[in-house]
Amino acid sequence: MSGVRADCTPWPEDVAAGYRRAGYWRGDDLGTLLSGWAAANRDRTALVHRDRRVTYAELDEWAHRLAAGFAERGIRPGDRVLVQLPNIPEFVAVHFALLRAGAHPVFALPAHRATEIGHLCAASGAVGYVVAEGQVELAARAGEAFPALRHVFVVGEAGGFTPLAEVERDPVPLPRPDPSDVAFFLLSGGTTALPKLVPRTHDDYAYQLRASVEVCSVTADDVYLAVLPIEFNLSLGCPGALGTLHAGGTVVLVEEATAGTCFELVERERVTFTALAPTIVRLWLDEVAWTSRDLSSLRTVLVGGAPLPVELARRTGPALGCVLTQSFGMAEGFLLYSAASDDEETRTTTQGRPLSPADELRIVDDEERDVAPGEAGHLLVRGPYTIRGYFRSPEHNAKAFTADGFYRTGDIVRLTPSGSLAVEGRAKDVIIRGGDKISPAEVEGYLLEHPAVRQVAVVAMPDDLLGERTCAFVTAVGDPPAAVELKRMLHARGVADFKLPDRVEFVDALPLTPLGKVDRGALRAAIATGSRAGDRAERNR
Ligand code: AMP
Repeated sequence: MSGVRADCTPWPEDVAAGYRRAGYWRGDDLGTLLSGWAAANRDRTALVHRDRRVTYAELDEWAHRLAAGFAERGIRPGDRVLVQLPNIPEFVAVHFALLRAGAHPVFALPAHRATEIGHLCAASGAVGYVVAEGQVELAARAGEAFPALRHVFVVGEAGGFTPLAEVERDPVPLPRPDPSDVAFFLLSGGTTALPKLVPRTHDDYAYQLRASVEVCSVTADDVYLAVLPIEFNLSLGCPGALGTLHAGGTVVLVEEATAGTCFELVERERVTFTALAPTIVRLWLDEVAWTSRDLSSLRTVLVGGAPLPVELARRTGPALGCVLTQSFGMAEGFLLYSAASDDEETRTTTQGRPLSPADELRIVDDEERDVAPGEAGHLLVRGPYTIRGYFRSPEHNAKAFTADGFYRTGDIVRLTPSGSLAVEGRAKDVIIRGGDKISPAEVEGYLLEHPAVRQVAVVAMPDDLLGERTCAFVTAVGDPPAAVELKRMLHARGVADFKLPDRVEFVDALPLTPLGKVDRGALRAAIATGSRAGDRAERNR
C-alpha cells in the first residue's frame, strides 16, 4: 500500500467489504487490466492519432517499457507525477506506465499555466511532470519553484529535460499495486478557490469503467472519438477512452474539437460514438448541414459536463443521424446516464439514471431534510465509485461530505416519474464556461491583487454558445483601470486563459444582501437582463 492512503479518506472497512462481496470491486488494478485487454485483442487497433496506429499488444509493451524506465529513473511507488498532455497516444501509455510503477498520475489540463501548475505541485507534492514540447517553459518554472519536482519528461523536443522517448527500458517485474489503493488523481470542478485532488482507486475506477461500458453498450466493434481533453473524467472513463479499451474497441484521439477535423475523422475511421460538451454539440450542429462527410457510422453521441438546453438536445440526434444520450457526473464519482433504449423525451429532458444499483442518493432541502418525490433539491450521493474525501483536505472534507459519507454535489436535481433525474441548477458557486469549470473565488483573488481593485465579484452571464461566460463586477480605488489591463495582469500571472473575465463592469458599489454579503443573485440578474448594475460600465470581448 502506498503512503497516500493516509492522506485520503478510504471507505469504511465494512462498506468496502460489502462492495467486494457484491462484486462491484473485484481486486483489479488498472495496469493488470490493460494486460488482459491486450491478451484478448493483441493485433486489434487500440489507438489512432493522425496517421499513427497503435495495437493493443504495442500499447501494453510500450506501457511496460515506460514503467521500467520510470522505475529506473527513480519514480517510486506512492510518488505523484503531474501529467499534462493533449489527446495523444503518449497520454494513454504514460498513464498505464505510471500506474504499473506504482506512482499516481495527477491530471492537469492542457490549458493550465504556471499558476495552476504551481498549485498542483504544491497540493500533490509531485516529484515528476510529464509534459508536451510546447510546455517546457512551464516545467522550467515549476522546477525552480518546487525543488521536490526532480523529474521532467517531455514528449517531443525536450529543451534540456528528459525526452520521454529515452525513458523506455526492457520490462522488469514490478510490484503490483494494491487495487484498493489510489490509482490517480482527477481535479475537482471546484467550489474552492483552487481545485482539490480527487483520489480514485483502482477498484472504484475499474468498476466505473465496467459498468459504464455495459450501460452504454460499448463493444469491440466500437470506435470512440476522444474529442474532449482526455483527462476529463467524461472523456477518460465515462466510458470514454479507457472504457472503450476495456471493451476491446478503438480510440481515435483528436486534439481539436472543430467540426471540420472531427467529421473527417468520423468518416475515415468509421467512428461509432463520442462524448461531447454542449458547446461542441452546438458548433457541430452549425456545420453538419454543410458537410459532405459521411457520418453514417455514428450510433451514439453522449453529451455531458454542462447543462444541455432541451432545444439543443431535441435537434442533436436528428441532425447528426444518431441517438443522443446524456450523462451527468463529476470527478468525485457519481454518474447518471440515459440509455439509447430510453424514449426520446427521457433522453432529451433528463440526464438519466444512476450508474450503479449501489448508488445511494438523497435529494434534500436547505436544512438537508429529504424533499417530497418530484420536488427539486440538493443532490447528496455516496456509493462504490464516489470518493469519501479529497486528498489532504480535512477542513474542506468536513464541508463537502456529510458525517455519514454522502458527497454534497452542489447540484439541484429533480426525480422524474420515470425514475430519471433532471439537473435543474447549481447551488454551488461554480461557473461552467463551455466544458470548463471556473471558481469565482479563485478569479476574484487574482483580480484583488491589482492595486486599483477594491472589491470584486465574478458571476456567470448567460451565453448562447458557451452556456455561461464570466463577468467581473469591480469597484475601484480611484480611477478604474482599463479592463484589458486587468486581463493582462492575470495572463502575466500565468492564469489559464479560460479564467480571464469575459467582461468587466466597473460599479460604484456592489449590492449587498441583508446579511451584508455580496448579492451575487442581484448581479447575475442585472447581467442577464442587460441592465447596468452601476454607473460606469466597461465591456470587452
Ligand atoms: P467535473 O467534476 O469537473 O466533471 O464537474 C462536475 C460538475 O459539472 C457537476 O457537479 C455539475 O455541476 C456539472 N455537470 C456535469 N454534467 C452535467 C450535466 N449533464 N448537466 C448539468 N451539469 C453538469
